[in-house]
Amino acid sequence: MRPLTESEIRESMVNAPAGEAARMPMPGLHEVIWDEREFLGWRDPQAPQRGYVVFWNDDEPVGLTLRAAESQLPAGSAMCSLCQTLQPASQVRMFSARRAGEAGERGNSVGTYICADLGCSTLIRMRAPGTELRHDPGEVVAHRAAGLTQRLASFTERVVAA
Ligand SMILES: [Zn+2]
Repeated sequence: MRPLTESEIRESMVNAPAGEAARMPMPGLHEVIWDEREFLGWRDPQAPQRGYVVFWNDDEPVGLTLRAAESQLPAGSAMCSLCQTLQPASQVRMFSARRAGEAGERGNSVGTYICADLGCSTLIRMRAPGTELRHDPGEVVAHRAAGLTQRLASFTERVVAA
């Protein structure tokens, strides 16, 4: 993804309650390898139920604030809805995103299962090839990256839908 500055990230938040975008903690942006991610995702170390994702939705940076469910998923396997990696259930959480605008003020949110550490971009680069084996590794990652970005854009549409 193209790099983002701290102020671009704070301004991009579409569903943050008043003041939260200004207060949210930032990851170490100088350490981010932008070329190897489709979105920037991080949890708040001081408030572990809080998570944030920011990505380029076409040419516009869009950020979402998320809340992780308190309860863990039952033991077994679970699949992240964004990167579609099947993994131990303890590594996937239900996250909810407050809806943007009036719907959010009325308490509406939308939820989905996402990797607990929001590290989907790392996973799609590490995951063993499955039925994709016939393609070269670069193509496999590019295909997964496009799907990941598209599913994040679809989730964002549900958050900002009027
Ligand atoms: Zn994931």
